[in-house]
Amino acid sequence: MGPELSSASSSDNSSTPSEPESALETARLQLHRAADHLDIDPNIVERLNHPQNVHEVTVPIERDDGTVEVFTGYRAQHDSVRGPYKGGLRYHPDVTRDECVGLGIWMTWKCAVMDLPFGGAKGGIAVNPKTLSRDEKERLTRRFAQELRAVIGPNRDIPAPDMGTDPQTMAWLMDAYSMQEGETIPGVVTGKPPIVGGSEGREDAPGRSVAIITQQVCEYYDQPLSETTVAVQGYGSVGANAARLLDEQGATVVAISDVNGAMYDPAGIDTATVPSHDEEPEAVTEYADTVISNDELLTLDVDVLIPAALGNVITEANADDIAAEYVVEGANGPTTSTADSILADRDVVVIPDILANAGGVTVSYFEWLQDINRRSWSLERVNDELDEEMRAAWDAVRTEFENRDITWRDAAYIVALSRIAEAHEARGLWP
Ligand code: GLU
Repeated sequence: MGPELSSASSSDNSSTPSEPESALETARLQLHRAADHLDIDPNIVERLNHPQNVHEVTVPIERDDGTVEVFTGYRAQHDSVRGPYKGGLRYHPDVTRDECVGLGIWMTWKCAVMDLPFGGAKGGIAVNPKTLSRDEKERLTRRFAQELRAVIGPNRDIPAPDMGTDPQTMAWLMDAYSMQEGETIPGVVTGKPPIVGGSEGREDAPGRSVAIITQQVCEYYDQPLSETTVAVQGYGSVGANAARLLDEQGATVVAISDVNGAMYDPAGIDTATVPSHDEEPEAVTEYADTVISNDELLTLDVDVLIPAALGNVITEANADDIAAEYVVEGANGPTTSTADSILADRDVVVIPDILANAGGVTVSYFEWLQDINRRSWSLERVNDELDEEMRAAWDAVRTEFENRDITWRDAAYIVALSRIAEAHEARGLWP
């Protein structure tokens, strides 16, 4: 941990955080670090250090065998100064209250760096979705929607897919909410199937934004895509879309992976021929001639590394071994703050998640607009407007990066935090 970080947290400066950090620890360290660069009222920083609400709910469901099982669900609503809370719902065994708060804080920055009129939230259920049948998952989702009904809504808090949830989950949520409200309210969630008010291009959007930002990075550092090698950890909607788009644009994707391991081919993988997680779950290594581990993928000697699977994969333990020159974060929170400092000291360029994968929430915003206006956009319009928004955010972050001697992450946080602090300043504290 660098000296800057050890003094960065006003709320928890008792000890060096031991790895792996929780999402909440990392999010708070990053907040204080960015605030140190800005002349922000410390009272506003203190408010942002805490979520506005954390809802913890009990979600009982009947299993297919007739027994009842009780799960715990959360919705952490961090900040809504710029608009309704926004963020995904995750079904994963590691979901905790603190993880939801940390991820909710990141959503606040993500929406602000994209200049979307949303605040930040995250929620989920501590469950392994692989152990649920489709019917059980539907019952779990509908009951969760009922438990959260009073605190979500198109002008209040708008959930979306995240790890372990998908467009079908969002369709069930929207249906349960709408049936209880007595009218169809598509804008209560985003990431739905297009037939029930979802947006074209939403599923591909996080991977598309990772590819757009990777292109910008390569352009900025005079690194022609045709001479760029890329390793992508994770082949779900983020990793597979990013890998395929970069492959189409001429980059050489040498490694892709799923939970079982990675496919490695220094000559380049034809990414279109390998099924993504959505097309055929966990099949990457079955298609591979050469298999390496996920840990080995992270330290490959490539130009661009895209961690697009889990959080906390680049840590103190492997940060010195990262050989890539550019790390573009596809997952949320793949780099611990200790690892971030090590990478910064080694001059590895790290483009943060809140910018790189923000295409998801940006197209969620487009979806919300389409739902409110009851008018859908063409895929071409969605992709064109996404491209425009990503370039505008990149330009805003690049300006801060160039004006101060800081990392790309700090630059993105400064853009986000300045907008949020200004909004808090304007609205004030009341009652
Ligand atoms: N779960 C996604 C994220 O982490 C999308 C959130 C949203 O669309 O609201 O950015």
